[in-house]
Amino acid sequence: MVLYRKYRPKKFAEVVGQEHVVETLQGAIKTGRLAHAYLFTGPRGTGKTSLARLLAKAVNCEKGQLRSEGDEILSPAGRSDACAVCSSCKEVEEGRAMDLVEIDAASNRGIDEIRALREGTRFSSMNAGKYKVYVIDECHQLTKEASNALLKTLEEPPAKILFILATTEPHKVLPTIVSRVQKFDFKKLTTDQIVFKLQRVASEEKIKIVKDHLRLIARQAEGSLRDAESNLAKLIAFRGQEIDEEAIKEVLGIIPFNFYHDFFHLVHNQKRTEALNLVSQIYESGLDLENFTKGLLDYARRILVARANPSDLNAFSVELGEDSAQKISGLAKEIDGKGILKLISALMRAQQDLKISPIPQLPLEIAITELID
Ligand SMILES: [Zn+2]
Repeated sequence: MVLYRKYRPKKFAEVVGQEHVVETLQGAIKTGRLAHAYLFTGPRGTGKTSLARLLAKAVNCEKGQLRSEGDEILSPAGRSDACAVCSSCKEVEEGRAMDLVEIDAASNRGIDEIRALREGTRFSSMNAGKYKVYVIDECHQLTKEASNALLKTLEEPPAKILFILATTEPHKVLPTIVSRVQKFDFKKLTTDQIVFKLQRVASEEKIKIVKDHLRLIARQAEGSLRDAESNLAKLIAFRGQEIDEEAIKEVLGIIPFNFYHDFFHLVHNQKRTEALNLVSQIYESGLDLENFTKGLLDYARRILVARANPSDLNAFSVELGEDSAQKISGLAKEIDGKGILKLISALMRAQQDLKISPIPQLPLEIAITELID
């Protein structure tokens, strides 16, 4: 089941997050001041292609089609969102809109379309009055030839053509292209925004899962709604309609939070054998030691923050639960500032070494040995 596609927003009003982008685009549609080309940049899974399709939908929606009058484009009735029911909107949703050309620069699909652009053909829409919309995903991977063809078109943009470029790596896009587009930076979604969307999906799919557990899934996705939704789909495939904490930890490889606490507690109390045993226990249970080390660094940072600003504990307890927040607070009182910095630098070295170590446990074992002398 592809939840991400099934629950793609059908109109701007359904988009979670990226308010700055949505508002500006809707304003542009409403006032008829659309740019000829947009560049959506930002991390994966943050809604770039979803919003590109929405924009394509909104400009050609039959309930609010933009009219051109001389140079000015007017939007009737101030409409600024797709209706999601007219045949034009449905065509976009079902992936059969003739006026929407989706090009994946990474896989070379649709490159011929860009060649055709340079030749000046296939410019206008099949339907009078409609926009021809080109969505070019991973546009930093366009070939040199295709980039130049695109640039030429952007220099003298034909009427009623809209380009929407998307990329995770804007610094690799030709600067001459970037200077001719309106750029929007997409942000990672917050845990709350992801939870909000997951709640809707879970309720429509009739999945029994409590909010705290959705939060676990959301946190693991690190700002990518697509990752969160595909992990939820994985869990449904694995567990069916009822998803508990154990299933989430098993399927997503989430390391139980108390392991972090135990690690710092043991190292701080100079319990070398127990600390080494903990690492091998984690390794043998199939959990990823790179993730564990990353989690340790995150935990150490929280201890540092808790020392500097005890009032942040409230934020931690909202995010991690009361119990974990108390444990962090306890460690913050036990370990002094120097001790934490020593821990962090040993863990950072371990994290680097993990990438090249032939034996996965070794870097953490070295860190433990360094810290407990
Ligand atoms: Zn419509």
